[in-house]
Amino acid sequence: MDHELLNQLLKPKTIAVVGASSVPGKIGYTVVDNLLKSGYSGEVYPINPTATEILGLKVYPNIKDVPAYVEAAVITVPAKAVPQVIEDCGQKKVKGLIVITSGFAESGRRDLEDQIVEIAHRYGMALLGPNIVGTLSNSDKLNASFAPFLPLNGKASLVTQSGALLIAIDAATYTRNVGFDKLVSIGNMADVNIADLVTWLDDDPNTTCISLYIEGLRDGRQFIEACQHAHKPIIALKAGVSAHGAAAAASHTGSLAGAAKVYGAAFQQAGVIGASDLSNLFDRTLALSLQPPMKGDNLIIITNGGGVGVLATDAAEKFGLPLKFAPEEVQNELKKYMPEFGSAKNPIDLTGQAGNEWYYDAVRYAIAQPWVDGMVVLYCETAITNPTEIAHGIEKALKDAGIHGKPVTVSFVGGEKSVAAMSELIKVGIPAYQAPDMAVNAIVSLREYENLSHMVAESAAPCAPSNQAAAREVIARVREQQRLTLTEIEAKEIFLAYGLPITRTLLAKSENEAVELAQKIGFPVVMKIVSPDILHKSDAGGVRVNLKDTASVREAYRTILTNAKNYKAEAKIHGVAIQEMAPWGTEVILGSVNDPTFGPTMMFGLGGIFVEVLKDVTFRVAPVTRGQALRMLGEIRGAPILSGVRGESPRDREALAEVLCNYSHMILDLGDEIAESDANPVLVYEEGRGLKVADARIILKKK
Ligand code: ADP
Ligand code: MG
Repeated sequence: MDHELLNQLLKPKTIAVVGASSVPGKIGYTVVDNLLKSGYSGEVYPINPTATEILGLKVYPNIKDVPAYVEAAVITVPAKAVPQVIEDCGQKKVKGLIVITSGFAESGRRDLEDQIVEIAHRYGMALLGPNIVGTLSNSDKLNASFAPFLPLNGKASLVTQSGALLIAIDAATYTRNVGFDKLVSIGNMADVNIADLVTWLDDDPNTTCISLYIEGLRDGRQFIEACQHAHKPIIALKAGVSAHGAAAAASHTGSLAGAAKVYGAAFQQAGVIGASDLSNLFDRTLALSLQPPMKGDNLIIITNGGGVGVLATDAAEKFGLPLKFAPEEVQNELKKYMPEFGSAKNPIDLTGQAGNEWYYDAVRYAIAQPWVDGMVVLYCETAITNPTEIAHGIEKALKDAGIHGKPVTVSFVGGEKSVAAMSELIKVGIPAYQAPDMAVNAIVSLREYENLSHMVAESAAPCAPSNQAAAREVIARVREQQRLTLTEIEAKEIFLAYGLPITRTLLAKSENEAVELAQKIGFPVVMKIVSPDILHKSDAGGVRVNLKDTASVREAYRTILTNAKNYKAEAKIHGVAIQEMAPWGTEVILGSVNDPTFGPTMMFGLGGIFVEVLKDVTFRVAPVTRGQALRMLGEIRGAPILSGVRGESPRDREALAEVLCNYSHMILDLGDEIAESDANPVLVYEEGRGLKVADARIILKKK
């Protein structure tokens, strides 16, 4: 969406409030009151057909009666009146519409919502909402909302899908001491969506961190792209991760893909830092808005108490940034700033005797050491030291050291004096937290930000040449027969068009042909039922492996057909597949779903019969880069099985990663056709020996 148009919507020079009211307590009154109280410098025009004056301002019966240019309109009239108001705004050449009114798609009136968007677009207007609280900005002294006041001033900006939460967060900014420049309620996102605001906030000089509360995205790919292009840290809390995977699914992948996993994957690919809950969103936002990214893994912790030091050490490991001992020379120098019984290993324990000077010396020295990438300073309130002085010591040390590219977070554990000291630290840009684990978690988010930025910068994997046309021919053939389920043979034709290493498979329609084809492929062979009506072939007694001679092939042919008929009398049988028998290997599963939000999405996990029991799988939105593919292999709990355990040699992860990339391009190219797919099992061999796709399944989208 056009940048200038969003400026006109979110920092307008003049504002009309359509539905303004002279009755205190009404939203139409509150919005006018808030605009005046926030110190907004532009003109405010209340619009109301009957009132003449509201809060000392002249009232106009219709926006078209305002004798001056109106850049944006806040709309609070009842839903059924909104279309006419927007029409009037259009004629008045208004640019931005802030539609507070509810009663649209969220309560079954998608039609009314579509109507207002249509009118807005006809006049080239941008529409925020409907069903929102409004928008607030400290730097513009603008409270165009019915939230009671501007948030605590700060450098983060928040976009939220929940209006009620915006009001709660607004108040909590003061009690939690986390400052925001802008709070934007985005509501139903009928027009302006989260991606638009990410891009706009990325250009906003008053925002250093973009904080998101997400219930459900509409266009997941637009969101990913907008975030990938942003230059500021973006942190998101996704609510509602439990309900999503409920939809009935025919494939393994479908039943394993839940919102938590798919959103988690999409965030990673978008370079978005996750927040585990609302508190965590606040904590991490504070650090991300005030501190630089952490460029390496070396975290140093300085403390005056062993207890908080141990808690921080535990937290560092738990959040994925385990502590290392400081180098010898750093330890030797730090020993000078502590008594004999202190510890200079890491955590650096200055002991309970440490006053502001010791903190000053240790912090100033440590932050300047090349080995140190980031620092957490802890302080336990003691009888002999003063929190305010310690805070000043830390602040001065950081200033005097003159090091700007390394993040620092702080935690003071104590009473009111500690709380007050932390407020002062936050004011000078040093994030401070009530508990050591929070300070560690916050600095970890700065490390995550750095890592994610590198991942996003990775270029897409070069992909094997593919033959999309051949794949589409197979699909067209299946569609002609009014089917959605492909047989293994058909699915493998498509896999082959994308360079996937399938086991060679041929279709036999008679016992004699079975023998002939088995000789052609070479013994031993595998034989399987080929029927679009039998999805899980083993369940139907439709798979026989390791058939070593013609007699066994003949016998298997008859048995498989009998079993299939007993299993499902009405099943349409194409014949029996004769297949190259792949040597034993580590069984993994590749799969895909067409996620409602993100579209074609890849799954990888340990395969075989336990896949649904262990649920040891991981996801990525397609396409998957080579780097992401390798990361997926490392993410599953069973990762050591691939890297080699107990004398087992490592598996061919390079080849597997390449197959993952190619598979992801297949599901992306054919995203308009394929609903779900999987390759289970894929047999993975020792390094350099590649892999084989033994089974293939594709289910088409309903059209
Ligand atoms: P389904 O999943 O429909 O029951 P599969 O084709 O996956 O059927 O076959 C069942 C099992 O038989 C596989 O999990 C695998 O262990 C084994 N298998 C299938 N095809 C081959 C093959 N070509 N080479 C070796 N083993 C195979
Ligand atoms: Mg299978």
